[in-house]
Amino acid sequence: MSTAQPNVIQYDILIIGGGLVGASLAACLARDASLRIGVVEKFPPPQDSGDFHPSYDARNTALANGTCHIFDQLGVWREMREHAVPIETIEITNQGRFGRAVIRASEERVRALGYVIENRWIGKVLYRHLQACTNVDFRAPAEVVALRYEADMVVATLDNQQTVRTPLVIIADGALSHTRQMLGIGATVTDYEQVAIVTAVTPDKLHHNIALERFTDTGPLAILPQTDNRLGLTWCVDKTTADELMAADDATFLRALENAAGEGIGQLEKVGKRFSYPLSLTLAEEQIRPNVVVLGNAAHGLHPVAGQGFNMAMRDVAVLVQVLCEAREHNRHWGDFNLLQMYLQRRGQDQFNTIQFSDKLTHLFSNRNPLLSLLRNSGLVLFDTMQGTKRFVARYAMGRAVSTRLPDVADTANIKSKSNVEFKQVTP
Ligand SMILES: Cc1cc2nc3c(=O)[nH]c(=O)nc-3n(C[C@H](O)[C@H](O)[C@H](O)COP(=O)(O)OP(=O)(O)OC[C@H]3O[C@@H](n4cnc5c(N)ncnc54)[C@H](O)[C@@H]3O)c2cc1C
Repeated sequence: MSTAQPNVIQYDILIIGGGLVGASLAACLARDASLRIGVVEKFPPPQDSGDFHPSYDARNTALANGTCHIFDQLGVWREMREHAVPIETIEITNQGRFGRAVIRASEERVRALGYVIENRWIGKVLYRHLQACTNVDFRAPAEVVALRYEADMVVATLDNQQTVRTPLVIIADGALSHTRQMLGIGATVTDYEQVAIVTAVTPDKLHHNIALERFTDTGPLAILPQTDNRLGLTWCVDKTTADELMAADDATFLRALENAAGEGIGQLEKVGKRFSYPLSLTLAEEQIRPNVVVLGNAAHGLHPVAGQGFNMAMRDVAVLVQVLCEAREHNRHWGDFNLLQMYLQRRGQDQFNTIQFSDKLTHLFSNRNPLLSLLRNSGLVLFDTMQGTKRFVARYAMGRAVSTRLPDVADTANIKSKSNVEFKQVTP
């Protein structure tokens, strides 16, 4: 029997934070036309927010093939692909040493090891898609000001005083999550004492779809192939160096970058606007509570060294959608703690491996200790000769070790324009 009250909005799920992860989850769930989904996002939609939006900003994201597969099943990949550049080769080197490892798409028998795309383009495509989903209520700019339990439901009060009643709230409002704090869920934050400088540069030679990952004594430098033969940069350095690089004029910045990147990059001719991001590892102390799931950066914000933060969160999204879909088939309440525990159990191992891998890599490759430097150099040489290990790491980086298949839904009528819908796997 319905318990609907006047002036109370009922959603099957309320997602707080419409950034990369929250918006992707909304799009995955929206395939089921019978669901009513609410999204509350603090910032205006990407189209209106000019250059800056905290999730859809100047950064590039290296999408693993598993993530592309999810976007493909949503029918948005074709549009994203227009601005995405395939990574055909990854070269890993160590500044000042000979060690080098190379992973090639051709050896892994895939078209690409991943795709590089600007966050602001992901944001535009996702937002346009959500606008076409009649069962998604995307409220932006808007905020949740209070959350409370009422029987087996959660009641959220919005800043316009409207009230939302829902069996499941998703906390996806980023690493500094205000809502996580509102619920009293703590987080451990480890400062890496590094800052990522993000910008695009133009080299004097073709990038040939090669991604460079270079380890230096002050931190890792990732150089990703972009559209128009630009290179997208995520340069992680200590805080003092970051201040100097952010303040440097363009010519000085480019020479410092050429020096750090080594010969492979060629001569650099142009640099775009620079942005900086302080880096830390943020881990929520709880990812689930009755009626609550903490997702994306609000659950685990990682160092970008392994390009796994968003990709791992998308694997969480895929599994959460699978679990919720199964629950719906068996008429189970979405706020049921046992059900949410099932989600976490399915995700535990991959989350643990990915967080450990990215954290250990950061420490191993951001260290001036000569012994460690020698070790990582020998490690690279050894890694390059070990085909089995290389294949395992490549599979992992491509996001193919975990199923990203979304459940089949009978009714996708909620998507007004189906022109992009193409349910096939990206990788052969
Ligand atoms: C330099 C850099 C490079 C990276 N490169 C990669 C990469 O190559 N591959 C990869 O997989 N990952 C990468 N990452 C990680 C990736 O960016 C994050 O995993 C991703 O942004 C997480 O998305 P999110 O939606 O959880 O959080 P966010 O992107 O932080 O989005 C949170 C959203 O919540 C909104 N919000 C905030 N507060 C509220 C509130 N009170 N109410 C409502 N809404 C709110 C914000 O406006 C925002 O839209 C990189 C990160 C950095 C810093």
